Amino acid sequence: MKYDLKACKFIETEIDPTKLAIAGSDTEIDWQTLKIKTEKLAELFKELHIPQGNPIIIYGHKECFYPLVILACIHSKTTYIPIDRIYPVERIKKIIEITGAQVLINCSNQPLDVEIAITIDADLKQTIHHSPDHKTKTDHDPSDPLQYIMFTSGSTGEPKGVQITRNSILAFIDWVKKDFSFSSDDVFMNQAPFTFDVSLCDVLNTFAHGASLVLISTDMVKDQNEFFDRLNKYKCSVWTSTPSFVFLFLRHPDFKTVNIPSLRTFLFIGEELPNRTCASLKNSFANARILNAYGPTEATIVTTLIEITNDIIKKYPLLPIGYPMDGSILYVEKSDPNEKEGELIIVGEHVSIGYFKREEFNKEKFFTHKGMRAFRSGDVAYYEDGMLFCLGRNDDQIKMNGFRIELNEISQTICKNNLVSDAVTVALKRNNEVKKIISFVMMKTPIEKEELLKELMPSMEKSLPYYMIPGDISIVSNFPYSSSHKIDKNKLIEEYLKKQFNS
Ligand code: AMP
Repeated sequence: MKYDLKACKFIETEIDPTKLAIAGSDTEIDWQTLKIKTEKLAELFKELHIPQGNPIIIYGHKECFYPLVILACIHSKTTYIPIDRIYPVERIKKIIEITGAQVLINCSNQPLDVEIAITIDADLKQTIHHSPDHKTKTDHDPSDPLQYIMFTSGSTGEPKGVQITRNSILAFIDWVKKDFSFSSDDVFMNQAPFTFDVSLCDVLNTFAHGASLVLISTDMVKDQNEFFDRLNKYKCSVWTSTPSFVFLFLRHPDFKTVNIPSLRTFLFIGEELPNRTCASLKNSFANARILNAYGPTEATIVTTLIEITNDIIKKYPLLPIGYPMDGSILYVEKSDPNEKEGELIIVGEHVSIGYFKREEFNKEKFFTHKGMRAFRSGDVAYYEDGMLFCLGRNDDQIKMNGFRIELNEISQTICKNNLVSDAVTVALKRNNEVKKIISFVMMKTPIEKEELLKELMPSMEKSLPYYMIPGDISIVSNFPYSSSHKIDKNKLIEEYLKKQFNS
């Protein structure tokens, strides 16, 4: 059996319907059970009369039920917002407030303390807390329903919701089917939290190919040997992760083909794939394919692809991000025509219709090119030998351990504290890799650092996910300015390192 995303139906194939569909952190289900439960949940959505475009929230971590709910949303064309348990409750409340979501599906067995009209648990038991007031107005086109809203860090201090429609997903999956060479024999290892679209790649591939999905919770990777046992138990063939995640295992003596022979493909998404990571992986898994895929959430999961061969590793110290997806246009907008690099513009049906209710940003980042939706990626890129290369960002968005972070969201959160007069957050980098996030803070009145931390930390931990909490906070009396009247962040870091060195 497999799922036809275009026709929105399960298709019988020669594959045994008792084949594993999803192995979650809690339980497993086969394809025939997946079909029954997905259709039942989609029925339930219908009975709830959720107006089209009004989102429901999916909450949990890596439970078996989570991808099933995603499929039920695709099946019934219901808009969903994926939320992982790594998000603090205040952030979830904010997302509910921004979107007006009325229904929450709780895949975990832990209660979530938020105000919402209806909750549904993994046994499809509904609890109606009060009658729903579906008043969300989305600018959706009824012929191309809004499929999901994925919240990422936002530079104004609030998370921003990237809206992806059904046709964008279909364009993505058509390309993947053609160029990624996956099949129903594949077993996808899925580890990234569902709040990041890296994780959706495996989910869609599993359903579209009639393959199997093995979910890996954060707890499951704490013991690396147990994690390898799980990969072997299910014969995982596709490893999808950020390069930062694979890096955690490179030094383990058992991380080799002989010990995990089923692994045939490593698919890297979400941040720069360092040449040395690739070279080391090739040593341990000589015959495995290594795929480097690039793309922002705003352009449905990924937009470029390339297989990294030994020749490419040798020839290009900065690895290419590859070739654009079918039907898309990727061009480099240069401020000076003599320059090689410029901002990468992504054009195609897979481009988002914009951020949820953020008109000012939408005007800045989205436009139309040759009749198609276009997105200013903020990535500096160039073409060489017909391939794209990405040099990094032209703004304050960073990736740390694969997590997308707007540094200004951290500063804005700090500035909400009454003792703080201003804050600026900077990423400390080595070899282009973010090592630490440091927030520089100016106080209204003098205060000791310990006292400030006692004041700030609880509120930050309440509203920011753990990976956005700065590694250090430094009190400064003023910010240095550059000749262009901008805060001189290099100078701040320089002074900070000097202080560290001397203490
Ligand atoms: P996200 O929206 O979380 O997927 O983050 C997208 C951003 O991550 C892109 O705009 C890039 O800055 C960076 N990124 C994603 N994939 C790659 C890659 N393969 N190589 C370099 N940077 C990448």
